[in-house]
Amino acid sequence: MTIDLHLHSTASDGALRPAELVAYAHRHGVHRMALTDHDTVAGLHAARTAANQCGMDFVDGIELSVTWRGRTLHIVGLGFTPTDAGLTAVIERLTQTRRERAEAMSHRLERFGITDALSRIASTTPQTQITRAHFARLIVEDGLARNTRQAFKRYLAPGRPVHATCRWIPLEQAIETLQRAGGLAVLAHPFGYRFTHAWRNRAISDFAAAGGDAMEVATGVSDRSQEAQALREAGRAHLLASAGSDFHAPEQRWLAPGRLRPIPPEQVIPLLSCS
Ligand code: AMP
Ligand code: MN
Ligand code: MN
Ligand code: MN
Repeated sequence: MTIDLHLHSTASDGALRPAELVAYAHRHGVHRMALTDHDTVAGLHAARTAANQCGMDFVDGIELSVTWRGRTLHIVGLGFTPTDAGLTAVIERLTQTRRERAEAMSHRLERFGITDALSRIASTTPQTQITRAHFARLIVEDGLARNTRQAFKRYLAPGRPVHATCRWIPLEQAIETLQRAGGLAVLAHPFGYRFTHAWRNRAISDFAAAGGDAMEVATGVSDRSQEAQALREAGRAHLLASAGSDFHAPEQRWLAPGRLRPIPPEQVIPLLSCS
């Protein structure tokens, strides 16, 4: 059984609409998936409907942005009630934060000759959470960078000229909100933060101390040795393991829904086991 618990759609920075993403994952042999868009549940209804139609298991998901010790962490929520009032309030706050940050970034882009960033983003993806990935696409389209990677490196990474710092929600609030809404809190892609070994372990132990449930061990870009290490670190912190590709777009050819190495079944969250 192929399971993927971390995927993005056009509700945030993914390239496929929710129903298209479900069909794409289905074609790649995925039997159970979670849609985990950045700070929004807007795609869940359409995705669930599409999943029902093709006989796939569907898990409600989200990827919450968190500010922790001055750094950003991503917390994947799984299996919560999407209409929960506490979660809705947190999403509203993060939407506001994203809107203000997008305005600041759009302003910073002006001195590089891109003057209409927000309206261009809105015209291609109405009603979505705007992320740095949307800005990266504009930067590439207008020839300021060869590809998204370069756009991040030159303009969008912390310390670069288009980056705007903002305050997401605290780690404890993300975990508590997801759990009160009936879901699990999962520390996303522990190797995805450019942290030193010490900082990664601090993130994992703070996450566990705040009551987090699990951590992603297998992702679309993790290698065997990172997975072994993540599994040991999760075990030490008494966290269960999850797995998700973090798929965003078919053009990322090295990454496909469901293409994940298996994790020892005794350490995984129940959603990742076959029954
Ligand atoms: P944000 O949450 O708005 O800061 O945007 C973060 C998103 O940008 C991530 O979820 C990725 O999809 C994308 N991203 C971050 N860093 C890079 C990078 N170096 N290259 C390409 N995409 C990136
Ligand atoms: Mn993303
Ligand atoms: Mn992430
Ligand atoms: Mn993600």
